[in-house]
Amino acid sequence: MLFQMSEKIIRVLKGVKEPRRAIVDVSKEPAHKSAIFRGRHEVRYDICTGCDACNKICPVDAIIMKPLPLKRPNKIPEVSLGICIFCGLCEDVCPTKPEKAIKLSGGDVSMVNSDGTEKALDDFWVRVDVPEEWIEAKKKEEEEKARKKKEMMAKKKAEAEAKKKAEEAAKKKAESEAEKGEEK
Ligand code: SF4
Ligand code: SF4
Repeated sequence: MLFQMSEKIIRVLKGVKEPRRAIVDVSKEPAHKSAIFRGRHEVRYDICTGCDACNKICPVDAIIMKPLPLKRPNKIPEVSLGICIFCGLCEDVCPTKPEKAIKLSGGDVSMVNSDGTEKALDDFWVRVDVPEEWIEAKKKEEEEKARKKKEMMAKKKAEAEAKKKAEEAAKKKAESEAEKGEEK
């Protein structure tokens, strides 16, 4: 008992006299990547359909859908790299072809700034800046499409009505001719 206590005391005294030093300051080391790391995300707002599939499949809820004032896409994904586990399911499920609208691009992920300070959590996101001009152009495109669709529907309706009238007139004519035939 006495021996064990003195051993402990000697160990503590040694530790105080020669404090252990960290051999490597890991905060300054590059991130250790997992073997399945495929890089940070790249989001293509110009081909995304806003279908929400990437968001729905994400196993860790790392994606939020940013709303857009458009019909399609009416939202696009943004990714929290602090939560993401880089599984790649969002890319796999994205239906756009031939290019995926969300892609693990191979780009690196760093949690520290060049001066060694930690990045603010808000910087550690894949944000998507959609240019205003693009939104405006897309809005006009959508309006034009809606106008053309409306015109086409009106034309189809008018054609159907004209066809119905012509059929009714032909039927009436045939009936009156049949009546005249009977009278003779
Ligand atoms: S890579 Fe995986 S964890 Fe990261 S956002 Fe995509 S689905 Fe979510
Ligand atoms: S990135 Fe792909 S899966 Fe995600 S909303 Fe856009 S089209 Fe859908």
